[in-house]
Amino acid sequence: MSDLFVLVRDVPDFPKPGIVFKDLTPLFRDAESFRALIEALAQPYLDAKVDAVLGIEARGFILGAAVALRLGVGFVPARKPGKLPARTDREAYSLEYGHDALEVHVGSFSPGDRVLLVDDVIATGGTARAAIALARRQEAVVIGATFAVELDFLDGRERLPKDVPVNTLLHA
Ligand code: AMP
Repeated sequence: MSDLFVLVRDVPDFPKPGIVFKDLTPLFRDAESFRALIEALAQPYLDAKVDAVLGIEARGFILGAAVALRLGVGFVPARKPGKLPARTDREAYSLEYGHDALEVHVGSFSPGDRVLLVDDVIATGGTARAAIALARRQEAVVIGATFAVELDFLDGRERLPKDVPVNTLLHA
């Protein structure tokens, strides 16, 4: 697994001074590494009876859609405000480098749906927390949250509900 993450590039001072951006695009570009990453993200959930994957814009779409295909389930996008065309639920949150909000279409989940949250990086945890709140507002059950990279020094997982198990492949 550590070989895989040789292809994660640190980009200093992006998008703001002081932020070290974890860029997964070199990993996505390498077919074998990309396949191994998706396999590793999906593996703990193969028998978890997941009904849908919830992916966070934008890199969570790349990973989440591939994980959904691997699990044989559908995909729900959590998008930045104003991008989804139909009626949405919205949740505001704070980011490592700013504030934002996420939306999902109303009716994305049925009550009791078992949902897996997927994103590339967990930093402060605010984004993932908002996504979990959106799924719960539609009475879905978030059975786990999985990330390629966790920035341990920001303690993001502490901001997530305690009953959502977190999986991370690389701790940075
Ligand atoms: P947070 O809400 O602080 O956990 O931020 C997580 C979201 O912002 C994820 O969608 C990440 O893709 C992105 N993000 C935050 N910090 C970084 C970082 N240092 N490198 C790459 N992506 C980041």
